Amino acid sequence: MESMRMYDLIHAKKSGRSLSADQIAFWVKGVTQGIIPDEQSSALLMAICWRGMNTEETLALTLNMRDSGHRADLSSVPGIKVDKHSTGGVGDKTTLILGPIVAACGLKCAMFSGRGLGHTGGTVDKFAAIPGMKVELTEAEFIASLAQIGFVNSAPTGDFCPADRKLYALRDVTATVESIPLITASIMSKKLAGGADALVLDVKCGSGAFMATLEDAQILARSMVDVGKAHNMKIKALITRMDEPLGWAIGNALEVMESVEILRGQHGESVLALMSFRLAAEMLLLGGVAADLDSALARVHGVVADGAAFSLLKRFVALHGGDATALDDFTRLPRAGQQVEIKAEQSGYVQAIDSRSLGILAMELGAGRKSKDDVLDFGVGIRVHVHTGDRITAGQVLLTLYKQPERTQPIIPDWISLGPEKPEFTDWLLETVE
Ligand code: URA
Repeated sequence: MESMRMYDLIHAKKSGRSLSADQIAFWVKGVTQGIIPDEQSSALLMAICWRGMNTEETLALTLNMRDSGHRADLSSVPGIKVDKHSTGGVGDKTTLILGPIVAACGLKCAMFSGRGLGHTGGTVDKFAAIPGMKVELTEAEFIASLAQIGFVNSAPTGDFCPADRKLYALRDVTATVESIPLITASIMSKKLAGGADALVLDVKCGSGAFMATLEDAQILARSMVDVGKAHNMKIKALITRMDEPLGWAIGNALEVMESVEILRGQHGESVLALMSFRLAAEMLLLGGVAADLDSALARVHGVVADGAAFSLLKRFVALHGGDATALDDFTRLPRAGQQVEIKAEQSGYVQAIDSRSLGILAMELGAGRKSKDDVLDFGVGIRVHVHTGDRITAGQVLLTLYKQPERTQPIIPDWISLGPEKPEFTDWLLETVE
């Protein structure tokens, strides 16, 4: 390995050849130690984007990234531990909903989540919007939460997959995020290091997702499922539509409110509720606590209807220093100083909602980060009043912006497009891969 040169790896991949397991180990080790110049890693990342990686290379990259830092050991908590991961969307707050549901059904749900970057939000930021909530737990606190209440969610702390942290930062500034082997290795290295036994993947597909086409989403789902299976993980992927924001809320405190509403039994027929309940049911199936999808869904509905899931969320928040009363009294949550309504200028059916642009707008209002050191404003965001297929009349409110008064009024071009015909219905669940 000592005689290897990054130049040769870059040249090999640029020419369309595959890298050996030793070459990949050399690169990831060098990245972790900080001895490979960023320009060489960036060049290799770009070559991988163009030339791809075969299954063996993707597996080797995943494992080396997994082993680049500390791995969580959850074996002191008895039973199967399940996890869920979304490839990233706008308004995606399913973790806040399904985590407490799964735990209330008696299965251990252990999740490390990320912070938002760019147009997509991060679960950790949503929990951090609850006053007092600690979102970076030590491993001891992580395990205690899992053992005591059956649910835990935390930002990864310490030296968890440091190679991914470094490579992701480079990918973010070199337009190399959208590569199937790189996304597979990035996500699956963290999921394998997180220590769960079973994983449900929510692979987002559409204009607001990394994977814009169903074909790419299928390839990504298959790639991640294969890597999980190669490591004896119980794993299944749902490919879900991300052509419009998920639910009515974009922005951290607003998303906490919407999650609580779902756990209180409101909006039961919304795509957000149906998707969260289905993902939770798939977790119950992988965890072996339900025999089939119908009985899994019945259990999910049961713990929402009797309040067990909502009270588990409150226990989780209180255990980590958060103000659980804010979940009953939303005036205790952060709230922006000004609300601005955006109204329809004409009548028609909603044809499409540009979720990526709305995600970027929410970020610019302060709900997300342009760069990783930006400080968030938890109270700002967007309420989306309409969904694709809705009939709108001129003057009807489409969006409410929650902004700080000193911020100039943003221009909203045609992000909610209207037309004379009702668009064809597309189900939120496009496919499953297992
Ligand atoms: N989320 C990740 O953690 N990594 C990626 O590469 C893309 C989405």
